[in-house]
Amino acid sequence: MPSGNLNLLSIDIEEWYLSYDSSQITPAKWPLLESRVEQSTRIFLSLLKKHRQKASFFVLGWVAEHHPGLIREIAEAGHEIGYHSNKHELPANQGPEAFEADLLYGLNLLESITGKRPVQYRAPMFSLCHKSAWAIPLLMKHGIEISSSYKAYQHIIGHNIPNTPFWFEHHGKRLLELPLNRLNLPLLNWVYTGSGYFRLLPKSIIRQLFRSSKYNMAYFHPRDFDTQVPSTPLLPAYRNKMNRIGNSTTAGKLEMLLNDMKFHSLGDGAALLNGDQLKVIGI
Ligand SMILES: [Zn+2]
Repeated sequence: MPSGNLNLLSIDIEEWYLSYDSSQITPAKWPLLESRVEQSTRIFLSLLKKHRQKASFFVLGWVAEHHPGLIREIAEAGHEIGYHSNKHELPANQGPEAFEADLLYGLNLLESITGKRPVQYRAPMFSLCHKSAWAIPLLMKHGIEISSSYKAYQHIIGHNIPNTPFWFEHHGKRLLELPLNRLNLPLLNWVYTGSGYFRLLPKSIIRQLFRSSKYNMAYFHPRDFDTQVPSTPLLPAYRNKMNRIGNSTTAGKLEMLLNDMKFHSLGDGAALLNGDQLKVIGI
């Protein structure tokens, strides 16, 4: 870890109606719903531009297909582009063959749009787990150098996922995992760095939590910045409600943090780490 805090900034580029693993609204129905990803992503982009900070954007293949101009705009602004699956299917449900085909499809697609092959990957819902440990060697095989696909304190093949960066090792090759960190208090392991708790907790608590952790993986979705998220009968009532709670506070809270501390995209942040000091988990 660097001597100060390591604050990483990321966003998963997907539409407002995407929920869990896409089982609630199947991809066949996506074109029927209003697209808001461009305008919501631009709110985040303009905050980064104003504060001269960089982030990693984990892009859904489906969004890249439908909005290639947005992806080019993100890359041209100097941010890092990672892959976030084609249609938000969970790797554990896909199995190794479909996962590998999905990965190759997305990496080729993003390379064709930006001219640069992504080396960062985030599983939908930070969902890599013991059932999908086979994904790690496949990510390495296809040139992924940084993954951000686990939540801290999950168990995987006899290990507890650390609350800080660590290496996966497989046949002498390494993959850096930058996990989603959590609050480390008995019975309180909130993910405060993005999404629900970030939108619900007061500014002062968010600032305190970020300041007191040596490692923060801030993560957002475009809808977190959208104060006009529509509702749809295709989603359960609680999900429609969750999609809107606290959204009007997100931009202000992020701006407070951008004023207060330095954030890095995942690649820039990784370059600051002392790799020899990180834990190694063999796969
Ligand atoms: Zn996602």
